[in-house]
Amino acid sequence: MLPAIASHTDPDMAPNYVMVEAGRLDAFVAAIFRAAGCDPAEAGRISTHLLGANLAGHDSHGVARVPRYVEWLEAGYVVKGQDAEIVTDGGCFALLDGHFGFGQTVAPQAVELGIARAQQHGIAVVGLRNAGHIGRAGDYAETAIRAGLISVHFVNVAGSVLVAPFGGVERRFSTAPFSVGVPLPGRPLVLDFATSLVAEGKVLVASNGGKPLPKDALIEPDGTLSGDPHTLYGEYPQVGPRSPANGRGAIRAFGEHKGSGLAFMCEMLAGALTGGGTSGPVDARGRIANGMLSFYVSPRHFGTEAEFFATGRDYVDWVLACAPANPDEPVLAPGDKEAATRADRLANGVPLQPDTWESILQVARRLGVNEPA
Ligand code: NAD
Repeated sequence: MLPAIASHTDPDMAPNYVMVEAGRLDAFVAAIFRAAGCDPAEAGRISTHLLGANLAGHDSHGVARVPRYVEWLEAGYVVKGQDAEIVTDGGCFALLDGHFGFGQTVAPQAVELGIARAQQHGIAVVGLRNAGHIGRAGDYAETAIRAGLISVHFVNVAGSVLVAPFGGVERRFSTAPFSVGVPLPGRPLVLDFATSLVAEGKVLVASNGGKPLPKDALIEPDGTLSGDPHTLYGEYPQVGPRSPANGRGAIRAFGEHKGSGLAFMCEMLAGALTGGGTSGPVDARGRIANGMLSFYVSPRHFGTEAEFFATGRDYVDWVLACAPANPDEPVLAPGDKEAATRADRLANGVPLQPDTWESILQVARRLGVNEPA
């Protein structure tokens, strides 16, 4: 039973948000990508993944990305119709190259291979490099959960440097997400977060007058902590694009030295080991791409599946029975917030900032796609 914690009246949203029914939004976004030249299957994968991020409550990785994805496609920055190619195949491990195809195509292919190999060997390690933006990393942990597998995903963004390491004032890391999925029957656990204190999308929202940033989310070159988006974007007009290239500061890694260390390892494993490159200048190839190193474990092969399920369920129940610090905010397990938001938004619609909706409509009009009724 999931706690009732989410409301479709998201506090991050402007009061005049637009509410769109999930199925219509999915069909509309798929139509945009078909009009942009993707085949129907790829267009559907992109729309369903982006919608999935909105349904999970991660709007920074949802349909707000449509204009940027279409721009990337038109600029040849991301390539339609690519398949992930196997570069190295060691049976229980493999390395794939995404050839800058859509992350929503090549990352599911890498996950599919990892699942098949783990079901065969009990464990699998799969690296993916040169993937277009793979979006919400938790989506891939959820796919492995549906196959009954534990998975751990280290992700980096080659060529994208936005985050200062602990103790530093200059940008060194990407926002490098990390995700773990645990398939407890009826009670899946999905940990999924960026290793930056805030996602860049949240800095963007704050710069547009949305929810303010925590006062220590960013850092100035002189070491002053800041919650002011100008630290990342420099000077910008009230309406118009913002670019991190114009700012002198950085986003901070979450969790002091611990989160900074995790970001470091995402760059090492997903970037350096896969050969896709890190956020560092040596590896910047003028093209931003995700790398991902994923580990898959089959509890069935371990021979402890029954204990794992029983002990795991007991442990979750015990943790969640912890007395809350605030009586209105129950203790949650990883993935609970997303599951509750998903249930709410599937029932009530997906709230979108008016500017986000307008920017999607503009792309749709330009490509000749009709606005949903
Ligand atoms: P976040 O800070 O909202 O953290 C989300 C995680 O914290 C989830 O596992 C959630 O269940 C858990 N959580 C949230 N509230 C909780 C509570 N009260 N108690 C217990 N657990 C709780 O996430 P974020 O850092 O803003 O990341 C957002 C998304 O951005 C993620 O899906 C991530 O994969 C994605 N991302 C992708 C890229 C990329 O390059 N593809 C880069 C950065 C981030």
